[in-house]
This record gives sequence, structure tokens and C-alpha cells, in this order.
Amino acid sequence: MSANLRVLFSAEQIAARVAELGREIRAAHPDQTLTVICVLKGSSLFMADLVRAIPGDVRLEFLGVASYHGGTSSSGAVQITQDLRASIEGQACLIVEDIVDTGLTMDYLLRTLAVRGPRSLRVVSLLDKPGNREIEVAVDYVGFTIPDEFVVGYGLDLGELYRNLPYVAVYVP
Ligand code: 5GP
Repeated sequence: MSANLRVLFSAEQIAARVAELGREIRAAHPDQTLTVICVLKGSSLFMADLVRAIPGDVRLEFLGVASYHGGTSSSGAVQITQDLRASIEGQACLIVEDIVDTGLTMDYLLRTLAVRGPRSLRVVSLLDKPGNREIEVAVDYVGFTIPDEFVVGYGLDLGELYRNLPYVAVYVP
């Protein structure tokens, strides 16, 4: 399995960056209960670590989205497969994404959630691939900026595999 993987960010590098992001995010939302919206499934590991690095009150919400369908290139279509269980009206919200690639998924999520009347709506993405952007989206916090390569691990999959790797690696077919 690991023959096709080139480690990009180790577990230690990820942990250090997540700790910084947690402090930065809390500093931008002082004294607010933050509604953290995990975009399933890819950002689940990142979200679990990130919320433990954000001091103070947070709520957890989960949003199921399908944009890739088991391959290494985007279908371009975005679909909500599991909606939030609670209203986000009047709440300070943070969308947690694993990676922003073309930007189509995040653009769709921002438009979909903004109309629900949150007090604020910010975005954190563990990874950013700006070289492949098809639509401009505002990503408020980025863990790491990467070149246009397909990555797996730390929640990111290829055909549902590799999500459990503690590091992020480039998948070399
Ligand atoms: P976008 O809509 O920005 O093109 O893509 C967003 C989604 O595509 C991400 O949430 C992720 O599920 C998937 N994706 C984009 N690039 C990669 C990648 O390099 N590796 C993996 N595993 N998924 C990716």
C-alpha cells in the first residue's frame, strides 16, 4: 500500500499547524460559541483535532457532501447527502473542509449556508490547491498550500481508502 505514497506532511507537522489554526480561529471569534461545520467525510479527522485546539465553547455540526465519486478528478457536481441537524441562524459558523481544489464545492456550500442567516460564516481548509481553481472562493484559514497533486491521508481518500493514515501523502498512481 505505502509503495504509492510520498509523505507531504507528517503527523507532527499537521499537529503543529492545527494548534496554530485553533488559536487563530478563537482569536477571531472571542467569547463566541462557534458552530463548527464538518464537511463529511474528508474533514472528519481534521475537525476532531481542530476543535480540541480551539479554546472555549464550540458546537459540532456535520454536513454530507458528494463532489468526487471515487476517482482522482472532480465530477464538477456537488450534492448535499446529509444536511445539518440544527439551525445556524444568528450563529458564528466555521466550515471545516479537508481540501479546496476547483473551489466548486466551497462556493456551493457558502451560497447554501449564507442564506440560512448565520451571524458569521468563515472557512478553514486543511489544504489548498489554488493552482486548480475554477471559481474564486474566500478561504479564511489554510493549513497548507500544495501544488496540483492528488493527496490522501488524514481523512482524504481514494475510493474510500487511506483516510486513516496519520499523515498526508501524494498518491502516485
Ligand atoms: P473542489 O470542489 O474544490 O474541486 O473539491 C473539493 C473536494 O474534492 C474535497 O472536499 C475533496 O473531497 C476532493 N478533493 C479535491 N482534491 C483532492 C485530493 O487531492 N485528494 C482527495 N483525496 N480528494 C480531493
